[in-house]
Parts: sequence; C-alpha cells; structure tokens
Amino acid sequence: MAILLQGIGVSRGTAIAAARVLRHGDLEIVEYALPAEFIHEEVARYRFALNTAREQLREIRRGIPESAPRDIAAFIDTYLLMLDDTMFTEAPVEIIRRRQCNAEWALKMQRDELVRVFDEMDDDYLRARRDDIDHLVNSILRTLAGQPGPHDPGSPGSTVAGRVVVAADLTPAETVLLFHQGITGIVTEGGGPTAHTAILARSLQIPAVMGVPLAVRLLAEGETVVVDGDDGRIWAGLDPAALAAFEDRRREATRRRAALARTRGAPSRTRDGVTVTLRANIELPEDLDRIAEVGAAGVGLYRTEFLYMNRRDPPDEEEQYATYAEVVRRLAGAPLTIRTLDLGADKGGTAATNPALGLRGIRLCLHEPGLFVPQLRAILRAAALGPVRIMLPMVSTVAEVRQARRLLERTAAALAREGLAHDPRPPLGIMVEVPGAALDAAALAREVDFMSLGTNDLIQYTLAIDRIDESVSYLYDPLHPAVLRLVHHVIDVGRRLDVPVAMCGEMAGDPRLTPLLLGMGLTEFSMLTSTLLEVKDVITRSDYARLAAEVDALLACDDADAYYTRLEQFLRPPAGT
Ligand code: PEP
Ligand code: MG
Repeated sequence: MAILLQGIGVSRGTAIAAARVLRHGDLEIVEYALPAEFIHEEVARYRFALNTAREQLREIRRGIPESAPRDIAAFIDTYLLMLDDTMFTEAPVEIIRRRQCNAEWALKMQRDELVRVFDEMDDDYLRARRDDIDHLVNSILRTLAGQPGPHDPGSPGSTVAGRVVVAADLTPAETVLLFHQGITGIVTEGGGPTAHTAILARSLQIPAVMGVPLAVRLLAEGETVVVDGDDGRIWAGLDPAALAAFEDRRREATRRRAALARTRGAPSRTRDGVTVTLRANIELPEDLDRIAEVGAAGVGLYRTEFLYMNRRDPPDEEEQYATYAEVVRRLAGAPLTIRTLDLGADKGGTAATNPALGLRGIRLCLHEPGLFVPQLRAILRAAALGPVRIMLPMVSTVAEVRQARRLLERTAAALAREGLAHDPRPPLGIMVEVPGAALDAAALAREVDFMSLGTNDLIQYTLAIDRIDESVSYLYDPLHPAVLRLVHHVIDVGRRLDVPVAMCGEMAGDPRLTPLLLGMGLTEFSMLTSTLLEVKDVITRSDYARLAAEVDALLACDDADAYYTRLEQFLRPPAGT
C-alpha cells in the first residue's frame, strides 16, 4: 500500500532509492546483577563490542574517498583515539567488576560520568564534545544489543551508499559524513528549512525533507521511497508505474538544470539595465568547485565554523591560514567574505539552556580571545593574498563592532611586529540578523564598510521561532510584514548612508522572492550555488524600476488582505515565463 508523508522540503530535487533507517539512542538500558562466575564473560562481551565498534570505524575510514576533506578522516581518527582511551577500554570494565553488573549498564554509568565532566568544562567547544561520547557509546551499545548494524552514521558497516537516509535528526557533522558515504536523499523528523543541516543538504545538493513526523517508525528499512524535496513529500510503497512517473520528473529537472547551466556566463542584469551582484555562500571546500560552474562573483558568506566541526581541537592559526589562503587562491581575484566564527545553537558550539540567545557568534569570540585572535591573524594573513572582507555574525551593538575593530587593529600591529605579511585593514562588515541591529542599522552602518542581511536568524528572532524546532516551523515566514519592513529598512539605510547592503540568508536564494527583494532595492545577493542560476534567470526577466515603484505600496499595507493581494503581484513570476 502506498503511503504519503508530508514534511518541509528543504533541499530541492527528487531522490528515489531504498531507505536506510537510522535509529539513534533508542535502546533501553536496564541494570541487572550478575553472579560472580559470569563477570569474566561479561567483560569479554564488552571488549568484543568495543572492538567491533573500532573495526566498523576503521572500515568507514578506509571507505572515505581521497577527494574528501581531510577533516572527515581526522574526525574518524579522533573517534578511534577516543575508543582507545581508558575511558572506554578500562573504566567500564572496572564498573562491571565492581558493581557486578551487565556491560550495558556499566557503559551507561561511564557515559553519564563523562557527560557530567564535559558539561562542567569552561570551554564551550569542549562541552559540545559530549555528542561525540554519545555517538561512540551508542555504537558499542548496538553490538551489545546484538544489532551490529548501521544505526548511526559513524557506526560500523553502514552501507548507506545510494540510500535515502531516514533519521530522527542529523547534525551538520553527521550530514557531511553521510554525504561522503554516498547517500542520495535525507528525511528527518526534526529540523526546518534554515537549520544548518538543511542548508548543508542544499549546498551538497542532496534532496531533503525535514519535519516529517514519525518518519523513522513509518518508513521501513530497505523499502523504496521517493523524496520530493520541492514539495516536502515522501512516498513509499509506490507501484512501478508511479515510480516511473517520478523518474520522468527527475530527468526533466536534470534537463532544466542543464539548460540553466548554459546561462552561467551571461550578465546578471535586469531588463532595464541594473546590474545585480550574485555571490556564493560556502561552508565546505567542495563548494568552491561550484563557484566557477555557476559564474558567481566571489563569496558573500564563508561560514568558517564548519572548519571547527567533526574534530576535538579547534583548528590553529596555521591550519586556518592554509585553508583561507587556498580559498583565496582558488577564487583567483574574486572577493572572499570570511565570516568569523559563529558557533552556537544548532551549530553545536554551546550547551547553554537557550543557545540561540546565548553566547554565540561575535559574543563568544569577544569573550574568548584565545579562540578569536588566531582566526583574525589567519584572516589578515590570507588577506595579503587577495581581496578578503571580514564579516562579524550576531552583532547587536555598536560597542561590539568597535571592540572587534580594536582587536583587529591590535592583531594587525602584532603581525607587523612579527614581520608576517598581512593586510592591515581589510573591509570590515557585519551580519544584520538581530532585529535590534536592523532597527538601529544607521548607527551600525557608520561603523562598518558593508552589511549583509542574515535573514535566517533575523526571521527566527523577529518572529520568536526557533529555526531548528519543527513544531513551530509552520510560523517561519520570510513574508511576514515585520520581516519585510526590517529588511526594507536596512536596505534603505544602506542606500542613504552609502554603505553596501547585501543579503546572505536563505531568502536571497529563493527565486520566488527575487522580484520582491529587487523591488526593495537589493542589488547584492549571496546564496548557495545550487540556486544561483535560477535567481539570475528571474533577474534577467525583471524590470527593476517597475518593481521599485510598486514595492512601497506593498509595505504601506496595514491590512493583511491588502498586503497579501499586493504580495501576490510580486510573487508572480516576471513576464516571459
Ligand atoms: C543567517 O542567519 O541568515 C545567516 C546567513 O547565517 P547562518 O544561517 O549561518 O546563521
Ligand atoms: Mg545567522
């Protein structure tokens, strides 16, 4: 029987493949006492499970293609080192002997102790490593439970290649790992369109649907599923005729992409001659390959926190310098906007009770110069090699910008004293993604060289909607009047004060919203390369002056019906489609 599940399409395209259902941490662990004569055997059982987890990781390590970023292999090496540590080799064995209990319970006790120690650490980064502990504990537990299968991405023997992965949730780190194992689609119960896992799925061009209730229970391991990333639908149990129809659709989409690819060298200009700059958002080295393919004018957002993921220690200055220098070199003279570290919330950098409102982005960096200064040094050094701009995330006050600028100046002075080549004053800009910053854009604009609208967070904070909580994602609305007024205000301020304003949130890459943003006067967009050519297609068919004349009436609407009627005019594709 066919079933249809509805979620939120977060990464476009259709995947048709067998499901690989990943179950995280759903094993029930109970304690039971063992007679003394069984202890020896229980210890052997634990050691066997530990070895199996190790073997499975090695198998995954061997399967990583040469072309994969070295962080992926380093991430697995870190796991292997952790498994070799006495925290896994000795402590649980000691607990089995002392308490005369089963291996599962001993491992759980050890896990709780480790998590407690990690939670008490001062360093947010290390605190976040507790996820790694859970990951490893789960893979050992699977073997103990007699399920030596692929239940989590790092776990052993997982043949996820060519499959659609179905999971309760995936972290960005797991998504990268699964991508390198060759998955073709993603379905998760949690998440929403601007969760980082979703952004990553789009960037890696894996069709994905998130926020699908009960997906893990309703979809069976191995059954053929269709993931429709455009409409947010999942189909299972389809007959061959229906599957063939989806195959046709997939082929048609491939044809359309090929046609768009031929427009990559065409200018990005409206029908009335306004040039619109289209840049790329990148987070992983593989994104660079696509920049030339779509003809992006450099990078408008480089999310550097991805360098810090899937590893135990943060990258040092030299490693960061090598990475940024390589990106500058590959961009061959096109500008690179490096966003400084934005750890926090769904990026897994902090264990605060309300991470989205806590010590994240520029707040964390100013609070921990030991983390921030090596990054600033690396960026200033890389800026000597080509056009680099620095962008600060999560700014909410003028004081933060000034403090960051002072730190930057001191860092440049130190590099000069050390005789290291660097650019002493690359352009400094901010993300406008806190509503207060948007309202106070004029004061902030006077402090910076450019601004970029981070609409993912701006919407989250303006509408009080957690961007990774699927239960409220139905309220996540880029077209909410309050959001549009803030966006328009920031663009206006930029024009008045002659400070360039770009947009790098996901709104910038949604071709349906392009006419509206053009109408507001936005002429610089930064987005995932996967959507750039579609946005350019809309731009080349739009009339900038006409849209500008109409947008004021839209924003002046104070009655919801009038507003949505006007809005529809903008959302209608331009003539020529
Ligand atoms: C944003 O908030 O819009 C943005 C681009 O930053 P991130 O999605 O990385 O938080
Ligand atoms: Mg943001």
